Amino acid sequence: MEMAERVEELRQTLNQYGYEYYVLDRPSVPDSEYDRLMNELIQIETDYPELRTPDSPTQRVGGAPLDAFVKVTHDTPMLSLGNVFSKEELVEWVERIEKDLGYTPTFVAELKFDGLAVSLKYENGRLVRGATRGDGTTGEDITQNLKTIRSIPLRLNEDVTFEVRGEAYMPKRSFEQLNDERERIGEPLFANPRNAAAGSLRQLDSKIAASRNLAFFAYGLVSQDDLVASHDESLDYLKRLGVAVSGDYTTCQTADELWDYIETYVTKRSDLPYEIDGIVIKVAGYEEQEQLGFTAKSPRWAVAYKFPAEEVVTTIEDVDFSVGRTGKVTPRARFAPVSVAGSTVTYATLHNEDFIKEKDLHIGDRVVIKKAGDVIPAVVSALASERSGEERVIEFPTHCPACGSELIRLEGEADHRCVNPECPAQLLEGLIHFVSRQAMNIDGLGEKVITQLHEAGLVHNVADLYRLDRDDLLGLERMGETSVTNLLSAIEQSKQNSLERVLFALGIRLVGQKAASLIAERFETMDAIIAATVEELTSIDGIGTKMAESIVLYFEKPEARELVKELAESGVNLSFKGMKRPTTEGAPLSGKTVVLTGKLHEMTRGEAGKQLELLGASVTGSVSKNTDLLVAGEKAGSKLAKAESLGIEVWDEAKLLDFLKEHA
Ligand code: NAD
Repeated sequence: MEMAERVEELRQTLNQYGYEYYVLDRPSVPDSEYDRLMNELIQIETDYPELRTPDSPTQRVGGAPLDAFVKVTHDTPMLSLGNVFSKEELVEWVERIEKDLGYTPTFVAELKFDGLAVSLKYENGRLVRGATRGDGTTGEDITQNLKTIRSIPLRLNEDVTFEVRGEAYMPKRSFEQLNDERERIGEPLFANPRNAAAGSLRQLDSKIAASRNLAFFAYGLVSQDDLVASHDESLDYLKRLGVAVSGDYTTCQTADELWDYIETYVTKRSDLPYEIDGIVIKVAGYEEQEQLGFTAKSPRWAVAYKFPAEEVVTTIEDVDFSVGRTGKVTPRARFAPVSVAGSTVTYATLHNEDFIKEKDLHIGDRVVIKKAGDVIPAVVSALASERSGEERVIEFPTHCPACGSELIRLEGEADHRCVNPECPAQLLEGLIHFVSRQAMNIDGLGEKVITQLHEAGLVHNVADLYRLDRDDLLGLERMGETSVTNLLSAIEQSKQNSLERVLFALGIRLVGQKAASLIAERFETMDAIIAATVEELTSIDGIGTKMAESIVLYFEKPEARELVKELAESGVNLSFKGMKRPTTEGAPLSGKTVVLTGKLHEMTRGEAGKQLELLGASVTGSVSKNTDLLVAGEKAGSKLAKAESLGIEVWDEAKLLDFLKEHA
């Protein structure tokens, strides 16, 4: 493609995305995609200056103001900020400043609030006008809406006349509440708090803005050299006048100090009650700012460091299908590798056929992916507008990719399953689960050894593990005398496990560790469990009908009963040895739902959870309004913030230890 053509294409796309973002408050792609295209355009315009035009999106700020509002011309333009994305780029920026000034100035580092830039005009201490940035020169008069924000004072502590610049934003909690409510009444959800804030402030009815619980932070004064001489002084001054200023800013002298500040907030940001999308760095002194000046779009004396993107766009290159131990067939997308939230992502699960259909995913599609809960990559949506026509439909297999037998999909279920009990993929996964730490806990039997044992024809089911002898194991690759001795002793030891471990290890569909414990405790022997009816099983608090039916179905199969018999014959214990929990009635924590978070020093969270359960508590993983108590260890993060915002009782480790001692 000709360079001029590419430039035209980029401009059109960027203008379209900019319109959706700035004017409609409804972006169709993640910011990282916009930034990527913008950077490509900047690069081309730098390399080919003859292609640069004054109307290029690289030269303009924001979007056109809406006609519905009275327009406001800014006395001083409201500009954008240049971006840096890495330490190297930050260092280069600092070096450029040093070169231009001839020395290293003091910098102010502050949070980049992810909201909407607004200008507030005060005359003799009274708020007279509030406006949006618009296209930087002309914005919208949204005074009535801004007056509904409590952190914007209508009257200052002094009768001064000046213009304050800052960010109106929607706190995370208001955003969640708003989207919950919109979901309930079937309205489209806002993509993020920024769009929600912008959408709320551009309502013609200020009652709507008032209901949205917005907030505001000032981040600067427009040239007031007579009052203050530097940016940090202006922030202190604004605070004294009663304007909301975030207390998180700091002054720095070097690029290293700036980088330390950035790194601190990379971790701290999830604990803040509002979204930030980066850190803004400004040269502190007003005189120095003046000397450095502006480009068409942004000040030369400031720059934004943008955090690694949490949502990015990549291409689905292929989809493969794997078979789990319960026979479930799971599709997995392979992507062109891409960096999300700081790490490279190549795969994500597509869950099942319904997920693929619902998201309308194809091989070759450009898709938005994010890290769910900051760990597991997930596909958010496909960018239908970017299809070329070459994309291929994702065909769900009709037959098992491991054994070739026909797959079934039960009515009302989303998953396709392989029901062949001999399916090698299921068997291998089943063996790996059986020996895992939470199940029979047989050390030394990793995936590799199990695969070898299976390939050598030595293990066809889990009972075969107890028939292995020294010679069998010595015949395997890389198995020496010592490893074999250790492994045999681990296998021997596992025979002594209590019933709940064996029950969990069998890998019955839907039966997790916790359910296995509840059932083992109630029925005490495997024979009693095999004989149990759905009604008897569901009479246990925590065991639902689906799980009970799955258990009964499992033990109805003669192979399953035969397997249990073989385990018993090998000497595997099949009775409950664990400690009974006190009948919850009257126990100190009976009826209480407890969540543990953060690092504990005296014990692991798992151990603490067990002890709390013995005292009647029900321990769960996430904080909700049903939580009664949060135990927060060191570096507790979002769970603690959530518990505090819900007014839930919080204990630190010392309080937990006291309590456990008291009830020991
Ligand atoms: P910007 O958001 O990168 O930075 C400028 C803005 O930062 C200012 O206007 C101000 O509102 C804000 N800000 C927050 N805290 C600040 C502080 N402490 N000091 C100074 N300013 C502070 O620039 P922009 O021009 O508003 O928007 C460009 C960005 O918007 C792009 O980088 C892109 O990520 C996003 N965008 C996305 C799409 C899309 O389709 N997804 C489209 C257009 C723009």
